[in-house]
Amino acid sequence: MGRVYNFSAGPAVLPEEVLREVADEMMDYRGTGMSVMEMSHRSKAYEEIIQTAEKDLRDLMNIPDNYKVLFLQGGASQQFAMIPMNLMKNKKAAYIVTGQWAKKAYQEAQMYGEAVAVASSADKTFSYIPDCSDLDIPEDADYVYICENNTIYGTKFWELPNTKGKNLVSDVSSCFLSEPVDVTKYGVIYGGVQKNIGPAGVVIVIIREDLITEDTLPGTPTMLKYKIHADNDSLYNTPPAYGIYVCGKVFQWIKKMGGLSAMKEHNEKKAKILYDFLDESKLFKGTVEKKDRSLMNVPFVTGNEELDAKFVKEAKAAGFENLKGHRSVGGMRASIYNAMPIEGVEKLVEFMKKFEAENL
Ligand SMILES: *Cc1c(COP(=O)(O)O)cnc(C)c1O
Repeated sequence: MGRVYNFSAGPAVLPEEVLREVADEMMDYRGTGMSVMEMSHRSKAYEEIIQTAEKDLRDLMNIPDNYKVLFLQGGASQQFAMIPMNLMKNKKAAYIVTGQWAKKAYQEAQMYGEAVAVASSADKTFSYIPDCSDLDIPEDADYVYICENNTIYGTKFWELPNTKGKNLVSDVSSCFLSEPVDVTKYGVIYGGVQKNIGPAGVVIVIIREDLITEDTLPGTPTMLKYKIHADNDSLYNTPPAYGIYVCGKVFQWIKKMGGLSAMKEHNEKKAKILYDFLDESKLFKGTVEKKDRSLMNVPFVTGNEELDAKFVKEAKAAGFENLKGHRSVGGMRASIYNAMPIEGVEKLVEFMKKFEAENL
């Protein structure tokens, strides 16, 4: 069977070119006679893999020297605890709650200190990004936390919050490397890679060096200290070695495609095709405020649950996979990450038009 158009929110589509390359290197990685999966993480060959991956990521995102890049495990969700354990010196932080992932982070932080919800869009089922230009940020907050792209609801911060001088911590899991970013505006940028970069099992943390200290909350496990990983260049223990290798391939693919500006252009083009159709459709409609629309996750509904289910079923039969919305919100969601080709979105819209004509 051939490849489908995979609109999964994560784990998600990867560039075919990368998949072919890692397949080619599966049995014998560049004359080592073994797969990267079988290789010591202390070997020369692996050292080069992880160092090149870091260097390419630094190039792509233009990461300044005073930021560390850490390749860790535990997914994005592990960071929900790791962030307060390492950064809550005053035991207080401000959270902007714009969806389930932000809410989970907010709730986790309450276990370690005072997490204050300074803004939320829960009143309208997270269908917008609240105005964050003048929030009531506690004077002694250690950081302001956001989930920059809300994977489930399909909203995105197009303007970063005014943190009133506090460090900004951002979960970029579902918009990682989708557009250029000014790293200097953040204290911490992190994301699970399985949405836009690589296989599940790796989380990348980009953290300003002054935030990496010995001074963590009492009882913080060694493995959850940024310092131990920073001091050991992500090789304190065995890292998710194969996953990092695949991430490195994707970094090289993005570079070859023209870097993050090119990615943004490509993503804008794809999203426009889908949003333009949703705006003119008499059957389908988008579910979030236009100004806050994500380029990566596009939720939509017909307004009729049975028809939604019929659409998902027929789309699947036609080769469009994973269009069902998140189990908590229903409807449909098309995740159109970096690796989704433009034809995938064009063909999806063609299919939606046909479905509309047949079902209106
Ligand atoms: C998927 C996702 C998570 C959770 O990631 P895990 O790696 O499964 O822990 C957290 N935040 C965002 C924005 C996500 O999209």
